[in-house]
Amino acid sequence: MALRSPAASTRGGVGSILAVSVRQKYRLRSPATGREILLEAEPGETYVDHESGQPYEVVGKVLPLAPSPSQLPWAVEYLRMCNWCGQFAQRDLNDCPSCGRRMAAVGS
Ligand SMILES: [Zn+2]
Repeated sequence: MALRSPAASTRGGVGSILAVSVRQKYRLRSPATGREILLEAEPGETYVDHESGQPYEVVGKVLPLAPSPSQLPWAVEYLRMCNWCGQFAQRDLNDCPSCGRRMAAVGS
């Protein structure tokens, strides 16, 4: 299965800096191989594992729930702490989802 480009890449117009992804990411698992993928799945579509030829099963939705300005799943390697409120936020966000303030640059 080929991963499609994120919805954000086709939604932002000229001059748009940050587009919000409106499609929900799902975690899918192949029962035959145990392989898992993250995908912005469309409701009603069947996604097939090319290795086994079997359809993927939906394991769960991936946080953050759509719509979200972040393209990153909630995993510790994609998180950083807001310098204002100390809450975790995805590394690809500029504004903290908890307090709404602009966070310092990553690594500063
Ligand atoms: Zn904050």
